[in-house]
Amino acid sequence: MSEAASTPKPSALARPVVVLRGVGPDRRAQLARLGLNTVGDLLFHRPRRYEDRRHFRRIGEVQLGELAATRGHIVALGLKRYAKGQKSVFEFILEDGTGRLHCRWWNLPYMQQYFAQGDEVLVYGKVNSLRPRTIDHPETEVVVANEDNSIHLSRIVPIYPLTEGLSQRWLRSLIFRAFQEYGTAITEPWPKLSIPDLPPRRKAVEMLHYPAELVDLELSRCRLALDELIDLQLAIQRRRKRLAANARGWPCGGDNRLIKPFLAQLGFSLTTAQTKVLREIRKDMSGGQPMRRLLQGDVGSGKTVVAACCTLMALESGFNVVLMAPTEILAEQHFQNFARWFGRLGIEVGLRTGSYRTSNAEQRTSSIEPRTSNVEPPARSPSPLASRLSPKADRQSPIANRQSPALTIGTHALIEDSFGQENLGLVIIDEQHKFGVAQREKLVRKGRYPHLLVMTATPIPRTLGLTLYGDLDISVIDELPPGRSPVKTFVRSAERLPKVWEFIRDKLTEGRQAFVVYSRVEEGGTGGLKAVTKERDAVQKALASYRVGLLHGRLPSEEKEKTMAAFRNGAIHVLLATSLVEVGVDVPNATIMLVENAEQFGLAQLHQLRGRIGRGSHESYCILVAAPNSPEAEERLKVLEETGDGFRIAEADLKLRGPGDLLGQEQSGMPPLAFADLKEDLALIERARSLAASIITVEPGNRHSTADERR
Ligand code: ADP
Ligand code: MG
Repeated sequence: MSEAASTPKPSALARPVVVLRGVGPDRRAQLARLGLNTVGDLLFHRPRRYEDRRHFRRIGEVQLGELAATRGHIVALGLKRYAKGQKSVFEFILEDGTGRLHCRWWNLPYMQQYFAQGDEVLVYGKVNSLRPRTIDHPETEVVVANEDNSIHLSRIVPIYPLTEGLSQRWLRSLIFRAFQEYGTAITEPWPKLSIPDLPPRRKAVEMLHYPAELVDLELSRCRLALDELIDLQLAIQRRRKRLAANARGWPCGGDNRLIKPFLAQLGFSLTTAQTKVLREIRKDMSGGQPMRRLLQGDVGSGKTVVAACCTLMALESGFNVVLMAPTEILAEQHFQNFARWFGRLGIEVGLRTGSYRTSNAEQRTSSIEPRTSNVEPPARSPSPLASRLSPKADRQSPIANRQSPALTIGTHALIEDSFGQENLGLVIIDEQHKFGVAQREKLVRKGRYPHLLVMTATPIPRTLGLTLYGDLDISVIDELPPGRSPVKTFVRSAERLPKVWEFIRDKLTEGRQAFVVYSRVEEGGTGGLKAVTKERDAVQKALASYRVGLLHGRLPSEEKEKTMAAFRNGAIHVLLATSLVEVGVDVPNATIMLVENAEQFGLAQLHQLRGRIGRGSHESYCILVAAPNSPEAEERLKVLEETGDGFRIAEADLKLRGPGDLLGQEQSGMPPLAFADLKEDLALIERARSLAASIITVEPGNRHSTADERR
């Protein structure tokens, strides 16, 4: 963490590490490998663990299997080579009066240079045998007798992440000196804030390295985490404030003249939750500031219809819309839905993916032709949108106008420079966690502060809602459309596959369809493709007379679309697919989801996959098959057996796998956090948010324009 982030003027902490005694070019290079370039970096270098060196284990008392910290003097040592000198083991024996401990290193012959007979050594590691007592590859520290040992012994001692060539002891001494000389440069970043229950920042740093008691560690961590989180919240809130000061939202609230007929012909009525969410969105889109809203709704909750209504609001108001989805399959599915819904209203819908460029005006049937060239069609002169939406335009061929469609649906292809949208009022991003912040921004910049609606089925635990998604307002569809039966979920180990196939055959006989998801299909190389073909043969054999279709990312788009269409209209009974089907695919007659090697997926991802079924009136079954002999994996998967609540699943996933995995944090543009923990620190995050707000309210208005506000 760089101290400069919170301190406005360059401080002594920004000085390079070479200002410290004992650091020359070599040491500087080693420290740089750890990301330690400045004095401040050193002072905020977080120990990876601590050792309570007030109480060592006696060697005679170490327990089998424990992580023991003990000490003794070397009474014997030596290097043995074997296998014609190819392999080696270096060993020393420690003695402390209560017993002997063997410490061994395999194939690291250079270790011998660090130790000598008679040295006093501290060791830490897992005791893997008691006869004789042995620790393999322990961490070690040789006590240097004539030096001041007060920071290395008889206290709770920090153990830092290291890199080759740096010793624990040297780095500990260096950080100690750095704190002695520069500790006073650590100041309160926000002196007016009152944080009475936590130590001041400087004290927190001192406690980080030199805790008096173990409880100090959490106090120190909380303070430093709070500072990180305040920084983060300040960035989020300042960005919002700038947006509010600089940008006007287009009036896109609409007048219902398209939504009314749309809803009338939809065939179902909106759920209460959908209506509530639409009201929130309409309020945002009516003007004022540009909307920045995240729409979260469990899989199958009906986000697409909400997106359609938002699109119509913008169109009614005379603005155009783009909708971006993460895969071609999903973009094409949206295109077909929207073309069907909107075609009757006389609205032109365009599709733009890597493979296709088309619109429902060019193809009145919604079949899709591959794009024939990469050459951009000649620029179309914009004409007033109103004419396209008037009943008259409805009867004319929209193709005659050669305008860009009022709604363009697509994939990443929409981000390309060659794509532009006149008069852009609303940007919708589906399954937004599949995109990075930069991509989101690039699409938004196709217009002048258009409204932005991002949609996700992945429930956002509150910690992430306030951080990763802190600059978005959140709307939740917390109700499924009526008539859904909950999906029955079973975790099975691979040994039971024959029974599972039998079950699936029964369901196919009843006229249902099935997804079979296979995790290895997407892997690179021809090995992966071979595996798919093999898997397909196996599935085909297990399901004898039923037709099995194959869907994976490396098929040509045409073929993917053909297979999807065949599955949709029932010509294919079983779709063997990669997790490609995870997002958005909607085939109500498919009631079985079999996931092989389910242990290779995250829980949230499996929940998404499961969301592909349970969409019709028939009972649905999700069968998660875990690798043979993987009781731990089965245990983890049981969460899905127990609950259909996406929120609980996301929380479990967040705890198990961390936020990056759940939401693509690495793409999120968030700074790395050294002390705060997005899984656990809800209380700190909320506190940081209100503290940041109190800082912001006293700041002078900020009207200058910077790049990062345009989102
Ligand atoms: P998701 O939120 O996962 O994107 P979809 O928008 O794909 O969900 O909707 C899932 C299915 O539910 C679709 O077939 C859609 O037509 C249907 N649906 C959406 N809203 C309703 C509703 N209010 N009543 C009945 N069915 C609905
Ligand atoms: Mg969807």
